[in-house]
Amino acid sequence: LAKASGRNCARLFDPTDPQSSDESENLAALLKIAIGQGLVSLVYQPIQDVVSGRVEAVEALMRLKMLDGTLVPPSLFIPVAERTGAILELGRWAIRTVCAELLADDHVPLVSVNVSPIQLKTPGFAASVATILGETGVTGNRLAFEITEGLEMEMHSDILRCISDLKLLGIKIWLDDFGTGFAGLSWLRLIDFDTVKIDRSFLHDCGTPKGMAMLQDIIALVRNRGHKILVEGVETDEQIALMREFGIDKIQGFRVGRPVPAANFQAKRGVHKRPYLKSA
Ligand code: C2E
Ligand code: MG
Ligand code: MG
Ligand code: MG
Repeated sequence: LAKASGRNCARLFDPTDPQSSDESENLAALLKIAIGQGLVSLVYQPIQDVVSGRVEAVEALMRLKMLDGTLVPPSLFIPVAERTGAILELGRWAIRTVCAELLADDHVPLVSVNVSPIQLKTPGFAASVATILGETGVTGNRLAFEITEGLEMEMHSDILRCISDLKLLGIKIWLDDFGTGFAGLSWLRLIDFDTVKIDRSFLHDCGTPKGMAMLQDIIALVRNRGHKILVEGVETDEQIALMREFGIDKIQGFRVGRPVPAANFQAKRGVHKRPYLKSA
């Protein structure tokens, strides 16, 4: 059974366990009907600019409910969606929903959306994004696409072409979870990422001298290449102070705010509703 299962989470399966293929098939079937049945939604987590202290962006994170209302974590359903190809429809739905429910009014400057390499490899992906932008009247410079370095992912020439097409639309390209895979360093050579998100494991391990040295090394590496730096997984005031001291550009994590539905970001009578910002 899934290690990730916790309170309110489905105990489903381990996608790497061949014995769990039944559950995997159930999930694959659920994913086919999920959009139509209203089982998919997006929540948004604030990204704070360290210098100004303002929320300069939010990250869209996908949520999936089973028919009985139980939540399935993305760590379980995204790999299945990638295997079955359902990620293509889910991905288009996510971009369209971000544009329609959040970027339609001007309260959030930028939304970052996680995009799977499968989407980037699919012919016509950049064109489908252009269509969504046209239909919703949103300009590309209010979107960033987060790409995660995968284990098996060599940098396909199709992906590089797609990324340059997306950049022509004004969309920023961010590297997600940097430091967790094998491909990150070669990707840094090939792609001019606007921002690199340093995986939260580096912050969590910085309590030891070795962990701290590692965090500083990875920050220096990203900075020397001229990328903006976002550190993920900020959970304490001490960590926020450390990020300020290190000159990090942006932070994200439970201490800044948890992922919440779009309504929390929409204006009420001209006053910004910001319950996601905890008072210090
Ligand atoms: P990610 O893109 O690295 O997203 C950040 C994950 O870290 C989110 O988990 C978020 O809830 C969690 N997180 C944020 N701050 C903290 C913190 O301070 N402490 C801790 N412990 N965790 C924190 P979530 O929502 O479960 O998403 C997991 C992963 O699923 C994402 O990692 C992303 O790779 C993938 N994912 C989510 N939505 C989508 C999507 O729409 N498309 C694709 N392709 N992948 C998605
Ligand atoms: Mg992400
Ligand atoms: Mg990711
Ligand atoms: Mg990440």
